[in-house]
Parts: sequence; structure tokens; C-alpha cells
Amino acid sequence: MSKFKYQNLTGMHDILPTDQVFFKKINKVLEGVSHYYSFDKIETPIVEFAEVFSKAVGTDTDIVGKEMYTFRTKGQDLVCLRPEGTAPVMRSYLEHGMHNLPQPVKLWYVGPFFRYERPQAGRYRQFHQFGFEAVGDKNPSIDSQIIQMSYDVLKELGFKNITIEVNSIGDSECRPYFKKILTSYLKSKKSSLCSDCQRRLKENPLRILDCKEEKCQRVKAGAPQIIDHLCEACHAHFKQVLEFLDELELPYTLNPYLVRGLDYYTKTVFEIIETSETGTSLGTLIGGGRYDNLAKMLGGRDTPGCGSAGGIERIIEVMKAKEEKAGGSKKPEEAKIFLAQLGQMAKMKSMKLFEEFRTAKIPVAESFSKDSLKSQLRAADKMGAKWVLIFGQKEALENFITLRNMETGTKKEITLDKVVEEMKEKLKNNK
Ligand code: AMP
Repeated sequence: MSKFKYQNLTGMHDILPTDQVFFKKINKVLEGVSHYYSFDKIETPIVEFAEVFSKAVGTDTDIVGKEMYTFRTKGQDLVCLRPEGTAPVMRSYLEHGMHNLPQPVKLWYVGPFFRYERPQAGRYRQFHQFGFEAVGDKNPSIDSQIIQMSYDVLKELGFKNITIEVNSIGDSECRPYFKKILTSYLKSKKSSLCSDCQRRLKENPLRILDCKEEKCQRVKAGAPQIIDHLCEACHAHFKQVLEFLDELELPYTLNPYLVRGLDYYTKTVFEIIETSETGTSLGTLIGGGRYDNLAKMLGGRDTPGCGSAGGIERIIEVMKAKEEKAGGSKKPEEAKIFLAQLGQMAKMKSMKLFEEFRTAKIPVAESFSKDSLKSQLRAADKMGAKWVLIFGQKEALENFITLRNMETGTKKEITLDKVVEEMKEKLKNNK
């Protein structure tokens, strides 16, 4: 037989049923946190005009400059697969005149994103992000609320070793001045920078602080800090954000070199990082910040905003590692009742009964494709069913069912029209 030749593209992966459990859990937590903070769900298309990102995120960023899946449509539009979620949400806010709604407009999203990244651990070319965006308010309490919600998501998922790194990167008032100071420092160290950063020196020196190359990290350690050069308004804003974080007792540290890679950020930026028990970082799980200039960059009216985005695959990787350490996964909540059948008439009747259980919202497991009672009982045993309802030929003819308690081995006959009610009672008493 010839070998099957197709496989996933590099950096793209199937989300198999075993992983769906994690997606489901994360989604449930996201729904809960968003609902509590009154964030409404929004879905934007996967394909957008490429300009939405080149204007907002910046052509000099890795995301747009190197990693965007850009192509022309048959109608010659230059479009792309969305690499991030904030710019499309702002595009939607502007397009639909959401400034007419009470401000801030609080939105959240979850879905797939695309970046043509170099393949490496925790980096995929198709990955999933969720995000919270509060658009139309510049109050620092919004920044701290976004940080709190992002932190809540990880806490609710059972993360223990998480820290929040925060910084302020100023605004169009104070950043240009800081850029000059930083550039003159970096120029004096030019030969110690990686080739990418030597190029960045001209285009965007701030981004050098974001470089993960070891040699650049060394240069970074002696660099001037933007926090010492904030204008009065940015300074006051940041001070208030930190006061809110203190009040909320959130475990944050100041990272004066945190800049985040995208052009639209202003003032507050933050990242939430998980550190394993050995103290090594498993990478950034959630990142975000304020983007008061984004709306203008997209050609819209001046609209402030603040948000965050979290990487679902990375969060799942940590959840899996933790589960493994704890000795394997806990069995998800499963049906405690198994419906077994023997013979054609019984099979047909039990399929109908199965539907009655579904209408009554009682979870029941089945194995209709199996004919042997022995293999059905084996399946029931394997899934840990407490009760097996046996529908045999005699039962089908006389309209009753035999209930077997798998723990005690006892048996009981129940008439067919009573079986749903009786099992409902049993489940209630079993809680
Ligand atoms: P960013 O939009 O780059 O700030 O990313 C926000 C979060 O998404 C990061 O903290 C990661 O958890 C996750 N993330 C970003 N890029 C990738 C990727 N290529 N593969 C998997 N997760 C990613």
C-alpha cells in the first residue's frame, strides 16, 4: 500500500478531540470573566485588508514586515489573514460608529490568527488568541481592569506561578524625546547589537529593547529607561495604574524595558508570564496595553482604548505540563448511565429511549453499533458507568428495561414509561 503523503503545513496543527477539552475549559472561563465584567463578544473576519495591519501595527514590525500571510484576491484587493485582533476590533468600532454607544465599548473575542513565524516551541503559524478590548475611555482604571481580567483568566484556569510585568512607553508627546536619548546610547553600542537591531537603530530603536538576542539583552541592561523620561500626563497616568494594581493586590513587577512590539501602543504595556517551580519562564501567556493612537492611525476619529491578548496554545501547553506533573489528567465529567441493547427490535427501541434521555437532559452513553452484550458491558465498565440499562429481546417485547447497578451487582426491572423519571431520581440522589 502506498504511504499517505499529506500532512499539516509547518506550524499548523489539528485540534484533536483530546485537545478540545482544554479549548472548552478555556472558553468557559473566558465566557464567565467577560460576562462578569460586561464585555460583549465580537467576531471579525479572518481576512482583512492588509492595510488595517500595516497602518496600525506598523510595517517595521516582525508581525507585518515578515510574518503576514498577504495575497491579492481575484478582484486585486491586497488582503491578509489576520495576524492579531486589536486592529480589526478598532476597524469594526470605527466602521460601525460605536462611538455613539455608551463608552467604553467593551468587547472580547477568540479565534484563529496567522503569522509566518520561524518554527519553534510555543510559536505556531496558525494559533488561537482571545482578547479583551475596552474602546473609548482613557481612564487608568480601564488599564488595571484589563490587567485584572487577564490575570483572572489564568487564575481560574488554576495557574499559580504567574507574574505581571508592567511599563509605560509614553505617548507622542514624550516618546520622540526618549527615542533620541535611547538612540544616542545605542549608537555608542552599535557593534554589540545583532544585525536586525543595527537596522532597527534607524527605523525604530525602541524595538531593540524587545529583542530576545542575548547580545542585545546585554546592551539593553545599561540602556536609559523611558520611565525616567515620561511627560507629566503619562507619568500621572502610569502612577494611577500602579495605584489601582496595588489596591487590587495584583502581583506585578516593573519592567522598565518592556516595550511590546507593535506601533499602536501608548502609555501602559504589560505581559503576564508563567514561571515554573524551577523559576524558568515558559514564555508570555498574555500581553497587552493602551492604544490611544490606533484609531487615528486607521484614519478614524481620535479614540482611546486598552486591551490584551492571550495565546491559547501556550496556555494549553502549560496546563498539560501541570497535569502531567500531577500524575495524568482527571477524567472529565462523563455519563454515569450506559444503555445496552440486544437484538434488532431492542436496538430500535433503545435508540428512541436514548432520544428521550437527551430531551430530559440526562447524559447517557451507548454503543449502538455493537451487537454483543458482553462487549457493551465491557465498554460500560471501562467508562466507569454506575448503572447499565439493559434492553434485551424479552424487555423489548414486554416494554420494560433491566437496570443493573455496576457497583453492587443488583438488578431491577423498570417499566419503559417510568425509566427516564426513575433514572433522573437516581442521579439526583447520587450527587
Ligand atoms: P502578541 O499578539 O504577539 O502580543 O501575542 C499575545 C499572545 O499570543 C502571546 O503572549 C502568546 O501567548 C500568543 N502568541 C503570539 N504569537 C504566537 C504564535 N506564533 N504561536 C502561538 N502563540 C502565539
